[in-house]
Amino acid sequence: MDFFNFTIRQIHNLLKNKEISAKEITKAYLEKIEKTDNNISAFLDLFQESALKQAEAVDKDISSGREIGLLEGIPYAVKDNILVKDFKCSAASKILENYIASYDATVIEKLNKEKAVVLGKTNLDEFAMGSSTEHSAFKTTKNPNDLSRVPGGSSGGSAAAVAAKEAVFALGSDTGGSIRQPASFCGVVGLKPTYGSVSRFGLIAFASSLDQIGPIAKNVEDCKIVFETIKGKDEKDATSVDYDFFQRKEEGLFDPSKVKVGVPKEYFGQGIDLQVRQAIEKAIKRLEGNKVKIEEISLPHSKYALAAYYLISTSEASANLARYDGIRYGKRFSGNSDFPENKELLDIYLKTRETGFGSEVKRRIMLGTYSLSAGYYQAYYLKAQKVRTLIKNEFEETFKKFDFIITPTSPYTAFKIGEKINDPLKMYLSDIYTVPVNLAGMPALSLPCGMAGNLPIGLQIISEAFSEDKLFKMAEFMEKEIV
Ligand code: GLN
Repeated sequence: MDFFNFTIRQIHNLLKNKEISAKEITKAYLEKIEKTDNNISAFLDLFQESALKQAEAVDKDISSGREIGLLEGIPYAVKDNILVKDFKCSAASKILENYIASYDATVIEKLNKEKAVVLGKTNLDEFAMGSSTEHSAFKTTKNPNDLSRVPGGSSGGSAAAVAAKEAVFALGSDTGGSIRQPASFCGVVGLKPTYGSVSRFGLIAFASSLDQIGPIAKNVEDCKIVFETIKGKDEKDATSVDYDFFQRKEEGLFDPSKVKVGVPKEYFGQGIDLQVRQAIEKAIKRLEGNKVKIEEISLPHSKYALAAYYLISTSEASANLARYDGIRYGKRFSGNSDFPENKELLDIYLKTRETGFGSEVKRRIMLGTYSLSAGYYQAYYLKAQKVRTLIKNEFEETFKKFDFIITPTSPYTAFKIGEKINDPLKMYLSDIYTVPVNLAGMPALSLPCGMAGNLPIGLQIISEAFSEDKLFKMAEFMEKEIV
């Protein structure tokens, strides 16, 4: 049976009706990965044994007659910066090459409770810093639509795994676009949830005030099912909140004629590919044809978002990554790990960090340390925080008048492997449309919206904080009627 195109609900129905066993599904996915992942390189690690065990437990439940939940027995993949107990978690860095997680991230705990099946860990840019997955210390993931191109990043392994049908869904993390941009490059759906709606406990920190875990899946409904499971307050993450308390629920049926969409002119300017622009404009025209009210708006502070993001995120990263010193955390690179030849503590720190971190991570630690240093703090970090507030206010004002903001997810489609790797500024531009949303803390979803040749185009829908409910309704409508 070719169930690789099936969504969570479709596989659930197969399981429920006993047309197939959970073990058969998991086995088929593991075999598929063995076959196709030689070309794609989405996975860093496979959990064959434990995945089959998890599936067998689900089969027991089914044969005992107990009703099963939607996610029960559904095989999924996890970005390798999210901890799964007793398995390696490297964040695609040499410095964590042999690190074994001693606990589950809260999102994994929640998915375990639903008895979803973890297939393995997926590739990423080292510590989630990048837009192409080329900054992984271990391998370069390929875009399943065109193997000479990148899958996007930093959750490139997760997006490629879903697009290549090597997992039903996957978890990613998004600090400045790392779920949405790879989802857009690979032609799948990705959600960056509202900041604070999903626990970050067990996520290897990049920039703590921006990081969020979210789902990547084949369609909007699957993203919704996973989000519903992983959201909510967690005592182990003080920034997580009681989602249901803050939730802005959309009552009743979705009525497009009551929807107002703002289209910011700044997101269609210089640097955007013609085909991307045309695809998004076509979708907007079709929305208008469905009685959605469309208005051109201006988000003038968006042009400062990338600069503010690269100061704030690198500042936070420089603090978060200080723990990898070869003593408290991380593989020690200094002679033999038990008997370092360099006896000086500083030598151990220096050697470990010099050898353990890749060049992009080092660049960011230097930039962040600089912008936090006495004398420069006011001019850079503090100023960036002020710009962040302006951007947030601008979004909040807009959502007083509009239900959604629609933009392209990225200015272009998947680029060639190697094309931008030597030019960090060019690479950073990949996220020009996604980073403002992280700075503002809003939820946003990337939806496939046509193709440029064989390369998928992504459309970004942004809505106000804690309004995922409304966002999903709009995205489901667009998935059915518009794109
Ligand atoms: N590409 C962006 C960066 O390099 C975003 C990364 C992310 O969201 N993790 O920082």
